[in-house]
Amino acid sequence: MFLRGALGVVVAGVGAAGAVRVATSDVASGAELSGNPSSVPTVSGTVGSGARWRGLQNKLRGRVILPGDPGYPAAKEVFNTRFDGEMPTAIVQVASADDVATVFGFAAENELKVAARAGGHSYAGLSTASGTVIVDVRGLRGVQASAGQAVVAPGHTLYEVYQELDRTGQSLPTGMCPSVGIAGLTLGGGYGYDSRAHGLTCDRLLAATLVLPDGSITEVTATERPDLFWALRGGGPLFGIVTSFTFETIPALTKDVVRLTFSGEQAEQVVNGWQQWLRDAPREQWADVSLDADGEGGLHCWMQLVCAEGTAETVTAALVDAIGIPPLTTDPRTLSHMDTVLYLAGGTADQPRAAFTNGSDIVSTLTPDTVTGVVAALTRYSSVGGTGWVQINTLDGALRDLPPTATAYPWRTHAAMIEWGAYEPIPHDSALAYITDAHTALAPHSAGAYINYLEPGDPLSRYYGPNHPRLAALRTQVDPHNLIHTVLNP
Ligand SMILES: Cc1cc2nc3c(=O)[nH]c(=O)nc-3n(C[C@H](O)[C@H](O)[C@H](O)COP(=O)(O)OP(=O)(O)OC[C@H]3O[C@@H](n4cnc5c(N)ncnc54)[C@H](O)[C@@H]3O)c2cc1C
Repeated sequence: MFLRGALGVVVAGVGAAGAVRVATSDVASGAELSGNPSSVPTVSGTVGSGARWRGLQNKLRGRVILPGDPGYPAAKEVFNTRFDGEMPTAIVQVASADDVATVFGFAAENELKVAARAGGHSYAGLSTASGTVIVDVRGLRGVQASAGQAVVAPGHTLYEVYQELDRTGQSLPTGMCPSVGIAGLTLGGGYGYDSRAHGLTCDRLLAATLVLPDGSITEVTATERPDLFWALRGGGPLFGIVTSFTFETIPALTKDVVRLTFSGEQAEQVVNGWQQWLRDAPREQWADVSLDADGEGGLHCWMQLVCAEGTAETVTAALVDAIGIPPLTTDPRTLSHMDTVLYLAGGTADQPRAAFTNGSDIVSTLTPDTVTGVVAALTRYSSVGGTGWVQINTLDGALRDLPPTATAYPWRTHAAMIEWGAYEPIPHDSALAYITDAHTALAPHSAGAYINYLEPGDPLSRYYGPNHPRLAALRTQVDPHNLIHTVLNP
């Protein structure tokens, strides 16, 4: 998802939590473990006694934070303010893989659900969910890059990873929002402007350290636990908690970036022309299409194009030629690697927290009929005052280098990912009505949805396509008691 213009100023940096290195004695003297009844969680999934939490704290290098603790409101905060009312049973700011294993053991003993928290950008607020023990991995820090590879701890945001890798001329194909966590993004796939050339973030994964729900810590590679290696590449967060990722990097390059705007009335022609252009465009060239409802029955249409340095003019000409309409505006720039990241993020790495609701559809082909359906759904919403949006991303290029069953991410023979969304001040109910209407309109063409854009209450099969049976069987094997929290149905 590209961050909308509304997201422009400063957010409490998710990466700012810093290293969690709290001495046990500091924590033990905290109010949350004092035996004060107000410190004992009262939400569902209680363990009923401060003594048990004290017992957990004594086994950890990290820190347990409970409702009633002064740090609790800040510790449970995630990017989407819609989830500010959620009340996790506890937040454990872990300091090691052993801490994660200890929390899993405690949760199993006390029949509690567990969810990891990295960048805090889950569309469904999973990483702050009520009745859940949150394993906050933001204290696990470190990006070590050597030639062609990077070992990345899960506490980092995309921007931090980009920044660290840039120092050695390397990068990764990740997403567009700089404050998203590398952990959550990678596990669900990870799509961005480099995906056409280099695939998804998970396609660059070489190894991971995974703490399984039974508390065992395992190295996962193509040859060690290949079943889990397959699942971690697009299967989402259902198989354990990752405490280290090793990626194969790509070169950090200066790029030409072009922003084009078109009349919203010609949105269908723009999308159809973009599809035409993609057929012949080399995979080093990438563009998406965004449509924004103006709330008065009209749409704005704009595109972002990213291509090799020095090629903007010819690539833009080919794209515009395929579309067959001159753009209203064309804004070409040549940007360094880090400036490209920032520009595509809307100009800042520090996005403000906001309330929003999103969903997605994956389509096998983007026929003119489908495009008409997409534009009509957004126009309907615009006509009733809605200021939602649609972003359409291509799933071609390097994504197709692997067959759909090679990793858990299944959408490798499909044309496009269509993301629907609406930001505040649009209320959640209204956004949901828009997205539901859009899903209904697209139903004949939709193959499923992207797990990183998950919508509560959906069946898991909607996100995993042909890989669902294998993922479901593996999940039963590694997490037979469903310790890991999900809002999806089996
Ligand atoms: C503004 C915005 C822009 C986005 N842009 C893009 C984009 O361009 N491309 C794209 O592909 N996606 C994008 N996304 C979606 C994003 O990839 C997912 O929301 C992702 O799950 C967020 O990961 P996180 O670590 O930030 O979030 P969190 O809420 O911390 O985690 C997300 C999920 O992963 C689990 N998890 C977190 N850490 C771990 C871990 N170490 N081990 C196991 N499970 C873990 C959590 O329990 C939760 O279920 C965007 C989301 C937002 C809100």
